[in-house]
Amino acid sequence: MPETRNMTFADREEYGKLRDAVRRFNLKELSPVASDCDEREAFPVDVLRKAASLGYVGPHLPEQYGGSGDYYAKAVVYEENCRVSFGYNLSLNASDLLFANNVARHGSEEQKQRYLPPVIRGEKIGCWALTEPDAGSDALSITTTWQKDGSNYLIQGRKTFITNAPIADFFIVIARKPGSSKVDGGCAFILERGMKGLETGKPFKKLGGRCSPTGEIVLDGVRIPKDQLLGTEGSGFRDMFLSLDVERSYTPLSSIGLAQACLDEAVEYAKQRKQFGKSIAEFQLIKEKLAVMSAELEVARRYVYYLIELVAQGKRVSKEASIAKLFASNMVNKAARETIQIMGGYGYMREYKVERYFRDAKLLEIGAGTSEIQKLIIAKELLK
Ligand SMILES: Cc1cc2nc3c(=O)[nH]c(=O)nc-3n(C[C@H](O)[C@H](O)[C@H](O)COP(=O)(O)OP(=O)(O)OC[C@H]3O[C@@H](n4cnc5c(N)ncnc54)[C@H](O)[C@@H]3O)c2cc1C
Repeated sequence: MPETRNMTFADREEYGKLRDAVRRFNLKELSPVASDCDEREAFPVDVLRKAASLGYVGPHLPEQYGGSGDYYAKAVVYEENCRVSFGYNLSLNASDLLFANNVARHGSEEQKQRYLPPVIRGEKIGCWALTEPDAGSDALSITTTWQKDGSNYLIQGRKTFITNAPIADFFIVIARKPGSSKVDGGCAFILERGMKGLETGKPFKKLGGRCSPTGEIVLDGVRIPKDQLLGTEGSGFRDMFLSLDVERSYTPLSSIGLAQACLDEAVEYAKQRKQFGKSIAEFQLIKEKLAVMSAELEVARRYVYYLIELVAQGKRVSKEASIAKLFASNMVNKAARETIQIMGGYGYMREYKVERYFRDAKLLEIGAGTSEIQKLIIAKELLK
């Protein structure tokens, strides 16, 4: 018989121990505040700081700046966080993956020293800004511009739907050179709160992920020295597409964590709820729901772990990341819907966590590239 266990990092003892430790931490620190933070639309910054002190922020980032260079640890923490609070992880991830991973991959030594340690310590929060009011899925159609101004750069434009924008200290902003087209002329810049001409709006009111502040960034003639350029002039879009593959590879872990949370609730509820003189878990129609949820979750989980293995090995994962994101986001939306169904009227009440899971799950079919765009990427790879 071939050995079918120990196939991915997740089966290794060290990651099992890490998972247990993160779970204990989240049960003690995050779980008690998760619903309240969602209700108040407030990011639990104290939890982030405590998590950072235990190495749960930016574990994938290089050791010399405070990380552990461990992409597997990032996956374990990511999944466990989403089991408790999807919104908390959304903001944490915008800081330590979207912002910091881009600095680690494309930044100068000075930039890494300046920006990575405070993010890893949870003292500063980063964000990454591509989307604009008129440029979402069509990312290359952005109209935020950069221009040379002596030895400085001048940035003009507006970003929207940016995770952490209302609370961020550091910003990566993607802009294009006027007159450039397609992947040419793109630049990424690192901006800091307080720079003249940079303003952020109030957090948007959202369906889900409510403890993660999302908002606008207005860039009204922001003048910055040339050492705030991230990567090389003109490489912004190419660098971005490489980084987006990594981001899309972690996003499905949100679906896995959230779906596990749904399944846990559904199983517990089905066992204790009695109708027609017996527990509803004894009804075949309820058993079918639980069995299908579990089967789809496990299949998605194994594929996503395999994907993380590829990412950690530095492999190109464009098609695999899209497959995982498409499948897992569909799976979790179904799981959240079925969990509410199993819980009946109670599942519909805000007093129960599954109502939050249901709202949170929807973003997974939209953010980091919609499901339609994932289908286009998969088909493009197939038809090459
Ligand atoms: C809570 C939240 C947090 C976010 N955080 C960030 C962030 O931190 N940084 C950032 O840069 N962005 C962020 N975004 C933006 C997110 O990435 C975009 O919302 C997403 O890429 C979709 O863009 P859009 O909303 O403009 O939709 P559109 O691109 O306008 O799409 C509308 C609909 O048309 C479909 N569609 C578009 N093009 C095609 C096509 N070619 N074929 C078929 N269907 C198509 C889409 O699938 C969708 O169903 C965030 C969004 C949300 C909601």
